[in-house]
Amino acid sequence: MEQSALERWMPAVLDTRDEEISCSQCFDQTPAYVEAELAGQHQSEVYALFRQHLGQCRVCREEYEALKEVLLAEASDERAE
Ligand SMILES: [Zn+2]
Repeated sequence: MEQSALERWMPAVLDTRDEEISCSQCFDQTPAYVEAELAGQHQSEVYALFRQHLGQCRVCREEYEALKEVLLAEASDERAE
């Protein structure tokens, strides 16, 4: 009885991935991901682990959002010229 409740709960928690990246790996990928996002290619499977980490880690999400603001500002400067 207890087992079945646990079995229902486990797949959602584990998702389908056994891999996870660390904050430093996430940090390394942030610039590439933001550039991919600006190019509309961030949904790529390449960034699946990155997105997963970003969804779980507020520190990395704030880092990502800060960098994205910088790159968006640069991109709009380029378009203005
Ligand atoms: Zn992190």
